Amino acid sequence: MTLRLLLEKKFAVSSQFVMETMTQLNKRNIAVLGSTGSIGRQTLDIIAEYPGRFHAWLLVARSSADLLIQQARQYRPHMVIIADEQYYDYVREALSDTDIEVATGSSAIAEAVTMPEVDTVVTAMVGYSGLESTIAAIKAGKRIALANKETLVVAGELINRLLEQSPGSVLYPVDSEHGAFYQCLVGERMQDVERLLLTASGGPFRTMPQERLNTVTAADALKHPNWSMGAKITIDSATMMNKGFEMIEARWLFGIEPQDIEIVVHPQSIIHSMVAFKDGSVKAQLGLPDMHLPIRYALGLPEGRLASDCRKMTIEDMACLTMERPDYDKFPLLRTAYAAAHTGGTAPCVMNAANEIAVAAFLQDRIKFTDIYSIIDQTMENAAHIEQPGYEDYVASNAAAREYATRLADKISR
Ligand code: NDP
Ligand code: MG
Repeated sequence: MTLRLLLEKKFAVSSQFVMETMTQLNKRNIAVLGSTGSIGRQTLDIIAEYPGRFHAWLLVARSSADLLIQQARQYRPHMVIIADEQYYDYVREALSDTDIEVATGSSAIAEAVTMPEVDTVVTAMVGYSGLESTIAAIKAGKRIALANKETLVVAGELINRLLEQSPGSVLYPVDSEHGAFYQCLVGERMQDVERLLLTASGGPFRTMPQERLNTVTAADALKHPNWSMGAKITIDSATMMNKGFEMIEARWLFGIEPQDIEIVVHPQSIIHSMVAFKDGSVKAQLGLPDMHLPIRYALGLPEGRLASDCRKMTIEDMACLTMERPDYDKFPLLRTAYAAAHTGGTAPCVMNAANEIAVAAFLQDRIKFTDIYSIIDQTMENAAHIEQPGYEDYVASNAAAREYATRLADKISR
């Protein structure tokens, strides 16, 4: 079921539904895809916070073998998957005194998420790599706590189609802004919504003069003012590509047209986003900038909130909240994202692929910060456009765009 449908059925769900769900409430088996990353580790913190409620049934990493082994010993999952095959023997050997199954390869991930024991899949892998397993989980009717926004950027239309065909499956947002939209929309009618106000911290270069962006390093860009996140999304926040991605993510999650999603810079990251209604009212969701909160909320759905001893917000935390409009000239990828959303088809997939390549090259100090912009623009100009893509079209567009962007990055760094 798409989130829009779910909300339209007025999440203000009947008390009978709540009762039924409560009685079915068993300990939930969670598959954590990307358990060694920033979101993955915080998801495991939440699982540990409610031991009677959740069990980490599957843990997946790419190559962080030692951390995966350590997590396996601590959380005792049924299975771990190390995607990079060169670490398979090492992980298997290290866990040979346990009854934990060990597997490798990306097809193993797509297979494992469909297992009947899995209740909820937390997609916390990074980039395009999350797409295949998310599709498999939807087809298998799983509840999905979606962190991997790139899945919706690349193939939002396909994902929504698959959700319609798989009514047992539902996507709950983990991204803090989308968790905020969700919370503001609970109990509302979608036809009463005028626009979404998507908040952005503005990243580490919000106040830096535009001409200096040429000279910033990866180390500068990795210093996010409010959030501690994985390297890729931290660079996406510095270019504000992340906010462009989130606009597209919101579009598919809530069925709101891109022109009705407005980006608002809010440097304190206390208001996680807002919904403006047709009667002039605006609802906001507030919280400390800590991803444990939206993860806890997503894992608590659909029953409701999970009480926690986490640090609560004080009046001082809320004492100074400011807003400003984004600078589209300094952060041109915001415009690129709106243009890609309007073009539709494979355009956002190409944008995402070029961004992944450019960000990786920037993190390796091979290209300048502003080269990220030009690599994305040039790759998008060059790419063939497919209007109504199927899965194979996304696979091909992603591969072609990565190849083209890689050549551009190589040329610059030579
Ligand atoms: P990280 O880079 O910290 O973690 C990524 C995780 O995915 C790691 O466990 C990594 O394993 C694993 N991984 C990467 N590629 C593969 C692959 N091909 N196969 C299997 N596992 C893989 O990223 P984040 O946690 O920051 O972000 C995860 C997702 O959540 C992203 O899509 C991001 O946009 C989104 N998100 C993140 C937020 C945050 O606060 N961090 C906030 C909102 C959304 P390994 O450690 O072995 O490399
Ligand atoms: Mg976010």
